[in-house]
Amino acid sequence: ASIEDEDADSRRVRVAVRVRPKIDEDISEKCEFVDCLELQPELKRLKLIKNNWIYESYKFDEVFTESASQKRVYEAVAKPVVESVLNGYNGTIMAYGQTGTGKTYTIGQLGKDNSSERGIMVRALEDVLAEASPGFEAVLVSYLQVYLESIQDLLAPEKNNISIIEDTKSGEVCFPGATVVDIRDIDKFLEVLQIGDSNRFAANTNMNTRSSRSHAILVVQIQRCLKGNDEKDFAFVGEESLQNVPALSKSKLLIIDLAGSERIDKSGVDGHMLEEAKFINLSLTSLGKCINALAENCAHVPTRDSKLTRLLSDCFGGFAFIAVCYPFDV
Ligand code: ADP
Ligand code: MG
Repeated sequence: ASIEDEDADSRRVRVAVRVRPKIDEDISEKCEFVDCLELQPELKRLKLIKNNWIYESYKFDEVFTESASQKRVYEAVAKPVVESVLNGYNGTIMAYGQTGTGKTYTIGQLGKDNSSERGIMVRALEDVLAEASPGFEAVLVSYLQVYLESIQDLLAPEKNNISIIEDTKSGEVCFPGATVVDIRDIDKFLEVLQIGDSNRFAANTNMNTRSSRSHAILVVQIQRCLKGNDEKDFAFVGEESLQNVPALSKSKLLIIDLAGSERIDKSGVDGHMLEEAKFINLSLTSLGKCINALAENCAHVPTRDSKLTRLLSDCFGGFAFIAVCYPFDV
């Protein structure tokens, strides 16, 4: 859809495109490189080229070339959402694109050996932790995966049928039984993320099979409580006591590494593969419908069609950013 004439601030969905650099695998597959993209980052425009002709041109909220750093992408795309969540709104950041285009790198890179490589999840938590005052704000993290329309707890993979409960009054979405970790420092978060990722990849014989067919969802809740006369009454002193603390306000940030958007050819596959293809198509199609409804400011957003959109439903309002990783080989 064209975003040409709209006022950026009035839109509920913002879309950025990031083109990744060529990597060794591209070269070893003996691909023939044909320049099919022309990027104009200053005009925020991307052109598709075929046979030396520009055949389509799109405008985005941001266009990142191969040389854009993780820091730049975070600051332009994710930071405003993180800031709005710190101000009490809910927000969503997600990466959409074909397998191999850089979704996991953009969203979930741990950057253990090189902190400049840290992705959006780690940078978001760094900012949240820097703002949250210990004792009065709790930062609670869950890490889930949606695969074949079932929700699995990536921090306790034996829990593979987590349900979604939506509060009929407030619209708040909860995941009863899912592991919730009270995060106080970034090292603890890195540890949690690594455990979740190893569970996400453990189920695969081949790294790029199930992990690219599942949606990974980091849920970050920020709960605030009022400073009382007796600080003890309000301080968070451990996970068990969280339930007993009157939360004054809650806000939630979802950071999502979506399943690969490539069309899985349904002909030629059967059984399990066909099942996977149907479920991914269902969830990405219903996500597309919701995003269209949001982009057009419709009063009704059809979130009920898939697990993915149901669990997103309380984080669609207010601010929602989407980071799109555009496939390099169009
Ligand atoms: P996806 O999650 O979309 O399947 P990945 O994030 O796994 O894709 O990226 C595919 C490969 O490309 C990985 O080896 C990743 O490290 C590399 N890569 C992706 N984006 C970048 C980037 N901006 N800079 C350097 N390497 C990247
Ligand atoms: Mg990935």
